[in-house]
This record gives sequence, structure tokens and C-alpha cells, in this order.
Amino acid sequence: MELSKKALGISPSMTLKISAMAKKMQEEGKNVIDFGAGEPDFDTPGNIKDAAKKALDLGLTHYTNASGTQELRSAVAKRLRDRYSLEYSAGDIVISNGAKHSLFNVFAAILNPGDEVIIPVPYWLTYPELVRMSDGTPVFLETDSSFKATASSIKKAITPKTKALILNSPSNPSGAVYTEAELRAIAEVALESGIFVVSDEIYDELVYEGEHTSIASLGKEIKESTILVNGLSKTYAMTGWRIGYTASAPELAKVMGAYQSHSASNPNTIAQYAAVEALNGPQDSVAAMKEAFNRRRLLICELINGIEGVSCARPVGAFYVMMDISKTLGKTAGGIEIKGSLDFTEALLKETMTAVVPGISFGADGYVRLSYATEESVISEGVRRIGEFVRSL
Ligand code: PLP
Repeated sequence: MELSKKALGISPSMTLKISAMAKKMQEEGKNVIDFGAGEPDFDTPGNIKDAAKKALDLGLTHYTNASGTQELRSAVAKRLRDRYSLEYSAGDIVISNGAKHSLFNVFAAILNPGDEVIIPVPYWLTYPELVRMSDGTPVFLETDSSFKATASSIKKAITPKTKALILNSPSNPSGAVYTEAELRAIAEVALESGIFVVSDEIYDELVYEGEHTSIASLGKEIKESTILVNGLSKTYAMTGWRIGYTASAPELAKVMGAYQSHSASNPNTIAQYAAVEALNGPQDSVAAMKEAFNRRRLLICELINGIEGVSCARPVGAFYVMMDISKTLGKTAGGIEIKGSLDFTEALLKETMTAVVPGISFGADGYVRLSYATEESVISEGVRRIGEFVRSL
């Protein structure tokens, strides 16, 4: 029987694949260092877990409004007001099963076949697939040496078919963070051209130098053209709970809500009650996690830049670092000729049991991505192994 051509054209997530390979080696008793993880290594804070237990005890286990409970949508609106002076009402918010699902809804709601979406490179590997799932065309945009797209490069990439620009600040995989001035210039271009800005701000609480600016906060007009995407996974170590959200113009929120009502009904009810506590409860665990990530960031950069043959720029946000491996290309390790980042990743895993993610999955083949959401002792040992590997080439 013939399967869907569109579905067959979607590639499986490379990050999950590498994680699965590393986990399998770990299960076989091998001492694997895993720099592949796309999630905080911390446990969900106790007050959030308690709120979930309470919801269960109170029997809050039924369907909710498909777009999320009024309470959670209000808590999100309050957060955006307190944090960014952004005025959204609960009706502008749609709660989904993680920010990934929110993004799925966004593209389903805005794209018609052939519509183009500009994606700066390197990008989170899910973006192009989500665009394709909604019959859109990803248009990749090369960035400058700091991994950021400029307003003028975006302007040049815009065609009559362009529907949206994806902005991911802080960025996965590069950790790049756009300044307010850069965002103002980008907002101007977006408004001139009448395109949407899909602003994925999932790492907004993890900025170590300067402040995160939400592009939607830069004026009434750009707020109306922006679809702000965020979630609780990274900020509250809640990846498994699956709560994400969008804030947008109300007409768009309605379309996304209708789409979701038929594809997923509501996000998990218990997780929604936990999410209210995460947003409204004490925030000290967020600050503690950020502090730990910052220490690890400084450590991993220092160690990588101490290895001759590889290097990295210091990321400003998120918990990833892009290691430049271009000088290792053409060399051989364990019988594998390193022609690109995938060969480097495979050889490194085979030779040293250290897992990284090949940059090719983010559109940047001269790099591999390391997540520093892991303990400092693990970072030291992993980078030591990388150093040994690079020196052996
Ligand atoms: N956006 C970016 C840039 C991410 O890195 C991730 C997760 O890795 C997500 C969105 C999705 O997060 P979730 O679906 O867990 O909310």
C-alpha cells in the first residue's frame, strides 16, 4: 500500500537518534558521555510536582477547554505582562503539548501550499520539517559569524511568496541572542513586507549576558504580526510534562485552537495545573538552574578553546555550544574519513564513547553541537576525550 509522500519526506529527529544510540551504549554498560541532550538535567521543582499531585487528588482529571484552562492562559498572559509589558488577554493564548506542538499549530494556521518561511542557519532541526508538514517551503538564510541573521539579509531573502520569518532567540543550536537594536531593525523589515514573525522564545530565561528582548514588545504593530512561542520545558525542567503556548492576535489563536481541538483536544490536564504553579509560584529554582548553566557554559568554552584544532564562540544564551570542527575535515579516525560533521560524530562516539550532535542536522556541517546541560565533572571528562580524539587525528 502506498504511504503518504509528504509523511515519507519528513526526516526523523537526528538529536533523538543520537541520544538513542548513546542510551543504548549506556545500557550495554559502556561509560558514555552524552552531550546530545536537549533538556535540563535537573528534576522538576518540588512545588510544581506537588501541584500536579494536588490536581490528581482533587480529581482534576477531565478534559479542559481545547486551548487550555482559563487559569493557565491567564497565568501565561500575566507572565508576559510582568516580564515584557506585553498585553495579551487569556483569549490570545493557546496552550499546547509543548512548544513543538505550538509551532506545528502555527504553521498549520498560517501556511498555504508553496508559502515560504525564512529560517536562519543554523536552525533548530524541527523547523524545516514543521514547515514542510504544512506544505510550506523552508528558505534557509545564512547568518553572520555570530550566527545571527541581519535585517538586510532578511530583506534580500523576502519574495512575494514569503509568509513568515522564524526567529529563535536565544538560539538552539548556537546560543546566539539578538539585541534590542537588531530586533528593531528586523521588525521594521517584517512590517514593511507584511510577513509574520514566528518568535520561538523557549530559552528566554537562559540569557547569561545582557537581557532577552521579546520582539513583540517593540511596538503595537510588530506585536500584531508576531506569533510568540514559548513553553515550560526548559525554564522549569518540565520537558516530559509537555506544556507550550502561543501568544498571538486573537483571530489566529482561534484558528489554532480549532485545529488543536480536532488533532489533540486539550493538553494534559494535570500538567496544566502544574504549569499554573510553575508560572505563579516561587521562581528561585529558575535562578538556581540558570546559575548552574552559566558555570557550565564558561567551563565548556574554556576547555574546548584549549584544544588545538577545534574552537567555539561563547554562546550568550540557551545551553548549547557549537564547536567548529572544520580543521578536522579530511582527516581519518578509526578507519572513518571525516568528510563532514556526521563522520566526526560517528567516529567520536565509536572511538571515545562521547556523543555530540552533527551540525549538518542544523544546516551547519562544519560544526557539532554540545549540550552543557550536564554536570561539570561530565563536561570535563567529555571534553578531555574530545581533546584526545582531535589530537589523534
Ligand atoms: N524550540 C526550540 C528552539 C527547542 O530547542 C525546543 C526543544 O528542544 C522546542 C522549541 C520544543 O520544546 P517543547 O516542545 O519541549 O516545549
